Amino acid sequence: MTERLYFNTDQLNTSTSVISCSPSDNGQFAVVLQATLFHPQGGGQPADVGMIGPANVLHVQQDGEMVVHMTDQAVAAGEIFIEVSAGPRQLHARLHSAGHLLGYCGEQYGWKAVKGHHWPGEARVVFEATATAQAIDIETIAAQAHTLLLRNLPRKIIQDEHQRMISFGDLPATCCGGTHVASLVQIGKIKIVKIKQKKELLSIHYTVEELP
Ligand SMILES: [Zn+2]
Repeated sequence: MTERLYFNTDQLNTSTSVISCSPSDNGQFAVVLQATLFHPQGGGQPADVGMIGPANVLHVQQDGEMVVHMTDQAVAAGEIFIEVSAGPRQLHARLHSAGHLLGYCGEQYGWKAVKGHHWPGEARVVFEATATAQAIDIETIAAQAHTLLLRNLPRKIIQDEHQRMISFGDLPATCCGGTHVASLVQIGKIKIVKIKQKKELLSIHYTVEELP
């Protein structure tokens, strides 16, 4: 079982140890660490990239309780320095946190957030209608999200042995394994690209603007 350090820290580098490194069919190497800062692809969030010792991390995936890092070269067993690339991680955390915020906003209109996909260029939150579902227009929800963002609520991580819950300030907590900004203004400005409704399903598509 890989210890998932990113659950509890925003730190981007540390020392850990290589448990195994084996060649893969595609010419890459599958590296398992004792502990990792790399978020694997999953839960609507792309994998982190970065370095494990001298090797580039090209992809990160889950294999049961293990996190498997795909690298471009082999690494030796034993202690090693790892570093997650800051740029992609920050963007993923901003998009992911924006998804939580928009999920909360949509729920104020009687829509239940059921799915988040937080990939750059295709980020969206999908909702199912409840009995009280009302129409949502882009300007209203964008303004509401922005007002909430300016409250700059701090991230809260509540972890017990069964699950990890994420909330911002007093907003409702949701079960989530992703990475998030430390407080809401770090998301930066959210732009709602479009809102699509198909019968009982509604999706809000969004981007986050480049930070100044
Ligand atoms: Zn999350």
